[in-house]
Amino acid sequence: MTESIFKVRDLVKKAAAGELLDREDLEYLFRLDHHSPAGGLLMGAADELSRSAGGGRAEIHTQIGLNLAPCPRNCRFCAFAAVNGVFREKSELSPEEAVEMARRAEAEGPNAVFLMATADYSFGRFVEIGREIRSRLKPETVLIANVGDFDEQGGRRLKEAGFAGIYHAVRLGEGRDTPIPPEKRLATFRAAREADLRLGTCVEPVGPEHTAEELAEKTLIGREARPCYSGAARRISIPGTSLENHGMVSESRMAYLVAVVRLAMGPEVIGNCTHEPNVPGAAAGANLFWAEVGSNPRDTSAETSKGRGLGVEACRKILEEADYRVLDGPSKIYG
Ligand code: SF4
Repeated sequence: MTESIFKVRDLVKKAAAGELLDREDLEYLFRLDHHSPAGGLLMGAADELSRSAGGGRAEIHTQIGLNLAPCPRNCRFCAFAAVNGVFREKSELSPEEAVEMARRAEAEGPNAVFLMATADYSFGRFVEIGREIRSRLKPETVLIANVGDFDEQGGRRLKEAGFAGIYHAVRLGEGRDTPIPPEKRLATFRAAREADLRLGTCVEPVGPEHTAEELAEKTLIGREARPCYSGAARRISIPGTSLENHGMVSESRMAYLVAVVRLAMGPEVIGNCTHEPNVPGAAAGANLFWAEVGSNPRDTSAETSKGRGLGVEACRKILEEADYRVLDGPSKIYG
C-alpha cells in the first residue's frame, strides 16, 4: 500500500504541474486496485481537476438516434450489429419526426444536441437532416454529429450544415471486435480537424477483459487527437452476444478508470464523460453525461427513452447527488 500511494501522489503532482502522464504512468494506474488509499487519492485528484476545469459546472448533452438497422459492420458490442440479431428491420425517423424530436430535446435544456446514425446510414441524408434540424433550433444550440467515418469533404459538409463538432472514437478492440481499422478512425479525426469540427472522444466500450496496455493505448490515442473532452464508458452487455461472456465492469471500477483518463488528458481539456450516468463516476472526475432518445447501440429497446436512456432531468439529479450544478446554456466543452 505504502509504495503505491507514494507513486500515485507523484503522478498526481506531475499532472497538477501540467506535465502529461506517459504510457508507463498510465499502465501503472490502470493496473492499480481502486479499492485502496492510492485509488482513493487518484479519484479525489481527478474530481478536483474536473470541477476546476469546468468552473464547477457539469454538462448534459442529449443524443438522438435517427435510425435502427441491422448494421453490416458487425461491431460485436453493438445492439445494431447484424450478427447480434437484436434488430432485424430497418427503420428511421422522417425529417419531420427528427426535427420534432430535436426541438423537444432542446426544450429540456441540454447544453448540446447530438444526432447519431448507424455507420451505413446515408451520409447525404444525415447532412440534410442535420441542416434542417439546425435551421429549426435556436441559433445558440450546439449541434454535434455522431456518425460513421468520413473524409475531408464529408467534414466540410457537416460543418457547412451547421454542426459544431463530432463524437468519434478509436474503440477498444477496434480492428478485433470491429472490422474497422483504427487508421480509418484516425483519418476521420483528421478530417474533422481540417473542417474545424471540434472532437469529443472517449475510452470505450470498456469490458473486464481489456488490459492496462490497451486502456493506456486508447487513452493516448484520444489525447493525441486534441479533443475537447474524453472520458471512459463501459460496455453494456447485449444479451446473447459473444462479448456477454466477459461480463461488465462495475460502476465502481469505471469511476476509477474515468479518473485515470481525467488525469491523463491534462488540465486544458474541460470535459470528462462517462456513460451511463452514475454518481460514483461524477464523484471521480466525470463532468459530462448524456441523455438519450431514439435508437441506442447499447439498448435492445427501439426507443431508448423507454429503455436504458435517461432524460435531462434524470441526468441532472444524478449530477446534483454528486454536488454538481449543471451549466445553463450552450456547451462550454464544445465552445
Ligand atoms: S458501432 Fe456503428 S459501425 Fe459498429 S455495428 Fe454499431 S452502428 Fe454499425
